Amino acid sequence: MTWVTGADGSPYGVTNLPYGVFRSDGGEPRIGVRIGSWVFDLAGAEAADLVLAAGTLCRPTLNGFMALGRPQWTSVRQRITELLTDPAHRAAVEPLLVPLADVELLLPVEVADYVDFYSSEHHASNVGQIFRPGQPPLLPNWKHLPIGYHGRAGTVVVSGTPVTRPTGQRASAEGPVTGPSVRLDIEAEVGFVVGVPSTLGDRVSVDDFADHVFGVVLVNDWSARDIQAWEYQPLGPFLGKSFATSVSAWVTPLDALADAFVPAPDQDPPVVDYLRDVPHLGLDLRLAVEWNGERVSEPPFATMYWTPAQQLAHLTVNGASLRTGDLYASGTVSGPDRGQVGSFLELTWGGAEPVRLGAETRTFLADGDTVTITATAPGPDGTSIALGEVTGTVRPAR
Ligand code: MN
Repeated sequence: MTWVTGADGSPYGVTNLPYGVFRSDGGEPRIGVRIGSWVFDLAGAEAADLVLAAGTLCRPTLNGFMALGRPQWTSVRQRITELLTDPAHRAAVEPLLVPLADVELLLPVEVADYVDFYSSEHHASNVGQIFRPGQPPLLPNWKHLPIGYHGRAGTVVVSGTPVTRPTGQRASAEGPVTGPSVRLDIEAEVGFVVGVPSTLGDRVSVDDFADHVFGVVLVNDWSARDIQAWEYQPLGPFLGKSFATSVSAWVTPLDALADAFVPAPDQDPPVVDYLRDVPHLGLDLRLAVEWNGERVSEPPFATMYWTPAQQLAHLTVNGASLRTGDLYASGTVSGPDRGQVGSFLELTWGGAEPVRLGAETRTFLADGDTVTITATAPGPDGTSIALGEVTGTVRPAR
């Protein structure tokens, strides 16, 4: 129970407490934590010695705090919980609560490297059937390692940032043409944010996931399917993805997701040693995709074939080092049913089966369309917590 007005029973109650960076009245960026419909100003709290985090809460991004490591993440969270639950602290803390409606939410993390995986078997199978009909839906390597590609960290933007329709080359019967993408799509994903770095040359074990990963964001990996289809062989996605990747403003700490870890799907054939994660846990995150306000899909993250610990181990098996602020995303989250897919490529089966949105029909995104991805997760004692949202509106090509 918290003394904060309206927060008990909210999906942003005291068992959630996601971190973000906000600005109010045109001021400097400040780190805060969400409680109900308020932001608790942690910069102000640290300046007043209410919370101690080595001065990292007075910075404009979460990176300094995330670099401190799990013991400090846990102790700061315990202290914040104490401040928001013990009425003895109310007089000191209440002046540091800012109405969420009065703040601008900023990119919470200075993103170091950005990697995107491809870890949903349903998604990979659907894409295989759409692009390579009559052939095996999964390529031979897919069940042996988590496939991924390097994305562009500098174009990761916070939820709410408009997305300009990308221009590029696409194939046509008359040869390549250049112009605005005509198959602009989304990918509903979950991203993992690295706090504690690793040393170049070292490998990070599947067992060390929670020592390095601070928390979780929602991700929309906007994708121009026509640009992607023409450019991706043989080196993988490039300009069809790098124009924008949106992330939620709130970073949900792993500590808030303790009740959301569930056994991941069995892996057959067995994986190689460095990918063997016991007890092989995924996360029961229930995503929802809204297209112009209509819920069109509910992707279940618990169905992901590769776990975030396996992804991290794979990312570093060659000795590549982690940096604070690294972001690695899961890949499109798709469940087995059409109502559970995380891309419109799958929802409309390659554009062949348009969907109805109000009085209109769509295959891919039109200018002015808004897509919002949300998620919930099990919390303690049968409760549910929310993971914020990632939203964006498509602007016309320039
Ligand atoms: Mn993706």
